[in-house]
Amino acid sequence: MRDLSRKRILVTGGAGFIGSHLCKRLLDEGCDILCVDNFFTGSKDNILPLLDNPHFELLRHDVTFPLYVEVDEIYNLACPASPIHYQFDPVQTAKTSVHGAINMLGLAKRVRAKIFQASTSEVYGDPREHPQKESYWGHVNPNGLRSCYDEGKRCAETLFFDYRRQHGLRIKVARIFNTYGPNMHPNDGRVVSNFIMQALKNEPITLYGDGEQTRSFCYVDDLLEVFIRLMASPDEFTGPVNTGNPVEFTIRELAEMVIELTGSRSEIVNKPLPEDDPVRRCPDISLAREHFGWTPAIQLKEGLERTIPYFDQLLKARKNNQGLLTPSDR
Ligand code: NAD
Ligand code: UDP
Repeated sequence: MRDLSRKRILVTGGAGFIGSHLCKRLLDEGCDILCVDNFFTGSKDNILPLLDNPHFELLRHDVTFPLYVEVDEIYNLACPASPIHYQFDPVQTAKTSVHGAINMLGLAKRVRAKIFQASTSEVYGDPREHPQKESYWGHVNPNGLRSCYDEGKRCAETLFFDYRRQHGLRIKVARIFNTYGPNMHPNDGRVVSNFIMQALKNEPITLYGDGEQTRSFCYVDDLLEVFIRLMASPDEFTGPVNTGNPVEFTIRELAEMVIELTGSRSEIVNKPLPEDDPVRRCPDISLAREHFGWTPAIQLKEGLERTIPYFDQLLKARKNNQGLLTPSDR
């Protein structure tokens, strides 16, 4: 007989960067976790410390196929997030967002579960409004290299709100801005992981374009805090709500900070700017502040200081040829 006092929570994409932290946080809060992942970009290494916990269950499954399980809440995070990963198989990326949302919403409807969607700042595209508020509809290319992700996530939001209007589902939609921390894929091409790996290896830091484009970087623990508060908020509050750190940096500033914090001998080299790379990105987080009293507590320097040792350890383990698989080995 199951313990009715423990909430049963499904986390899709639970072996990924954010998902693995979320699984741990929810286990620590006394929940039963079902982690579903197809390991496209996620890794068993990320959830290795959780595998012995009797309240943690792992299922290899692709969310583009239906799933029949009994749960109280769903966090839908399954989707590659780094541009090189989501552009590797763009059709599968769009299917993961759209078919994945349909399958998870169908499951939520059947079992009457509350469901959370990991949406993204990419729904704003290359924004013409700054900082971005939830009311902004965005400036998105519908048929470019980033569209499989941006439009996939926009369609997923549409589905979430239609399931709410049509079927009365309890939904929560978070628009996540650039988040970083331990368990990021070392070869995922995202700027924080790239720069730290390059700096630790004293290799050139690849600055795309002139490096004057901006991003606002949120440490993963801050993000989890707002996820939990959003999920616990009254049913009438659905979002979408911006979740990110509103302090904006140029990518050049980030490169310089990483070099300084790692004590690296790396030099900065310029590379071409990828297609449709947003020029500025910064969340207006008034809504999250007002509803949950949330503001990020960990600023970029401190977050990088917590993240660098993770990549350092990966590199050392790789050198010593122990465990901790690298993506190129997988
Ligand atoms: P990630 O790539 O580390 O994690 C995604 C996880 O989903 C991986 O474990 C992957 O194997 C899994 N997955 C992919 N396709 C799947 C499928 N079809 N079926 C089952 N599992 C599948 O990325 P992340 O940074 O942890 O992002 C998690 C979520 O948050 C994603 O939905 C992403 O779009 C969203 N998000 C992240 C950021 C960020 O800065 N990290 C920003 C905006 C939105
Ligand atoms: N970027 C860079 N060098 C890199 C990787 C990324 O200059 O090695 C830039 C990229 O062009 C973008 C920003 O860093 O302007 C953030 O890129 P990322 O892929 O992390 O996320 P995005 O916000 O673009 O989805």
